[in-house]
Amino acid sequence: MFCSKCGAQIPDDAQSCPQCQESVQKANPPQPAASAQAKPVEIKSGLVQAILVTVFCCLPFGIVAIVYGARVSGLVAAGDISGAQEAARKSNMWSWLSFAIGLLSYAAYIFFSFLAAPR
Ligand SMILES: [Zn+2]
Repeated sequence: MFCSKCGAQIPDDAQSCPQCQESVQKANPPQPAASAQAKPVEIKSGLVQAILVTVFCCLPFGIVAIVYGARVSGLVAAGDISGAQEAARKSNMWSWLSFAIGLLSYAAYIFFSFLAAPR
């Protein structure tokens, strides 16, 4: 390469110019491409459990969980990590709500069929 001040040729690994002692500024300093090569964020979408509770427990709330779970990957792809985390959190919350309500309705069903049973 060449000195930016006097134009003398300098060895590539030199720290300063042998002619004028100007410190060598490398034209392309190696920059850590942190943002470009950022590790893709893995966010658990909760989609699988959302589908399971929809099938086995409570359909309306399970669908809400699926809707939020399905948004997660799209938000990650769009770079909206906080949005994706929020959607995953909501999906998980609705899954559990659906699961709890499904469990309660089964319990209620068993309870009332026991009451209704002939003695
Ligand atoms: Zn120089």
